Amino acid sequence: MTEQRRTALKELQKLDVSIEDARDKIRTFDPLFEEIEEPSLILEGELGTSRTRLKEMKLEARRLESSSDERRERIRKLEERLNSVRNLREESAVTTELEMVKRGLENDETEAMTLIDQVRKGEERVTELEAAFKEASDLVEPKKEALLADREQVRSELASLEKDRNGFTTAMDARELQIYQAIRGGGRRRAISELTEDGACGNCFGMVPLQHQNEVRHGDQLIRCEACGVILAAPEPVDEAALAEAAAAEAAEAEAAEAAVAEAAEAAAADSAGGDEEE
Ligand SMILES: [Zn+2]
Repeated sequence: MTEQRRTALKELQKLDVSIEDARDKIRTFDPLFEEIEEPSLILEGELGTSRTRLKEMKLEARRLESSSDERRERIRKLEERLNSVRNLREESAVTTELEMVKRGLENDETEAMTLIDQVRKGEERVTELEAAFKEASDLVEPKKEALLADREQVRSELASLEKDRNGFTTAMDARELQIYQAIRGGGRRRAISELTEDGACGNCFGMVPLQHQNEVRHGDQLIRCEACGVILAAPEPVDEAALAEAAAAEAAEAEAAEAAVAEAAEAAAADSAGGDEEE
């Protein structure tokens, strides 16, 4: 029996991990959007509050105005009546009322003056906030567009990974796939793991009984780790040729680096020698 390397399951797991990473990455965009929009949102809120307050002050100014008009009319009538009073008692009563209405008018006028000043300041504040809000919004747009483009890129990567996965799973052994899905369905990232060299589970590092190890390496049963439940796979055979190639490449790289250092030292020596001659 061939070694149970379960290549298809491992490939599927790689795809699934990439899919999860892409989904996680997409989620990280939400706080970024909030962050860039925050300054303009705050200004928008302040602008709303200032506009409401201004509107209220203007309404109050109008109310004062009509109250003053009424009082002026009342004063005019009382003054008229003062001309036709029949006795002192009546005169005194009209005068008292006249004084009272005049005091009311004075109060209205003082209040109106203060209010006019406040309305002017409120209008200035609204104009300032409108400009600041526009400036902040103009800054947000390009940042937002860049973020949207970045997110779109990750989304399309995700879509292509999901498409790959669909194509891949249709060609897979249905039972293996079902077990794999069930393990990952519990929210686990790893559903399959290779045996380590000394026969432990590569996920939880619990020792796997020898009989199970043999089954993983040589049998055709699907064996799961008794401790953590992952599907166990035989390790990939060590590719001696590839290892030798990698080692050779590393050695060549080290040699090249060494040569570069030597060359630089030589150049420095030549430089300082040249400098000596010039002096
Ligand atoms: Zn395990």
